[in-house]
Amino acid sequence: MKLAEKISRGDRPFVVAGPCSAESEQQVMKICKEVAQNSSVKLLRAGIWKPRTRPNSFEGLGEIALPWLVNAGKETGLPTTTEVANKKHVEAALKAGVDVLWIGARTTVNPFAVQEIADAVQGVDIPVMIKNPVNPDLQLWLGAFERFEKVGITDLTAVHRGFSVYKHKKYRNVPNWQIPIALKEQRPDLPIICDPSHITGRRDLLLEVSQKAMDLNFEGLMIETHPNPDEAWSDAAQQVTSEGLNSILSQLVLRSVEVSKDVEGSMEELRAKISILDDRLFEILGARMELSEDVGQLKRENNITILQQEHWQKVIASRIEHRGEFRLTQQFVRQMMDAIHQESIRHQTKVMNTEKNKT
Ligand code: PEP
Ligand code: MN
Repeated sequence: MKLAEKISRGDRPFVVAGPCSAESEQQVMKICKEVAQNSSVKLLRAGIWKPRTRPNSFEGLGEIALPWLVNAGKETGLPTTTEVANKKHVEAALKAGVDVLWIGARTTVNPFAVQEIADAVQGVDIPVMIKNPVNPDLQLWLGAFERFEKVGITDLTAVHRGFSVYKHKKYRNVPNWQIPIALKEQRPDLPIICDPSHITGRRDLLLEVSQKAMDLNFEGLMIETHPNPDEAWSDAAQQVTSEGLNSILSQLVLRSVEVSKDVEGSMEELRAKISILDDRLFEILGARMELSEDVGQLKRENNITILQQEHWQKVIASRIEHRGEFRLTQQFVRQMMDAIHQESIRHQTKVMNTEKNKT
């Protein structure tokens, strides 16, 4: 059976565990044997070649470490996976007997590199997991899957590991959940695994992000594990021991996608009420845009620009200040008002440029 099918059909979550980087034969064997005790762990990971942001960080031990991972797989009876970023990595990993390849986030951004890897696996029957690109670009992620499909590799799985940002106060990489959700919409056939280790960068946040992924119906989790996380040569702050992993997995609440018969009625009732409110929202938005057109007309007749920056800033500030009574977050109010403003500008621009209004 294809790996992607096992991930989609098996019990949730399908867990990928193992160290960020392979550091020694003992380290790889120890952590792999430990995590394999947990029956949710179905695939062992270890980084052999590490794409590091700055050149003086540990860049992985390279080929010498491949047999350590493969042996840990044999010892535990679990398949193994490692990150490949070029043709040489692919050849070495295949030769060593690694079972699954994964494409890292810094590679998915580069179509040349993805194509090189796809060409290198053409004709080989091997599953490939593709992490999202570091930048929030769904097309680039989709394109990477297509490059593999074009060379006949169809056993594909997506890994969501968040997106780079400058100095986020909470996460190492922001989740932007709407992007994996959009991927699911466009490619419902692809299972998605969440990598909370690289999203959070902090072990104390792994549980909340893993739970969120389960509530969004992701099929699996990739969690970096290390016998002694604080001493890890890479990504020390985000790795957990096998006990840490067990603790996270045991605290996850797994909810079902199916709406059971006994709650169907109450669910429908609530959804019907929501739908009535949505109808009203749309009516109000429509009426609001009509008023925007009247404003546009007035601006046109009096030769006033559409954008009135000062006025708009006052409107936004006041909405943000008074959002509390409606229990809306600042971010939501900002996004919603920006969307309404964009649409209003579109309506006003239309009024400004209609034939009958042209002077
Ligand atoms: C990793 O999984 O260790 C890794 C380097 O991940 P990413 O490509 O998500 O940064
Ligand atoms: Mn890592």
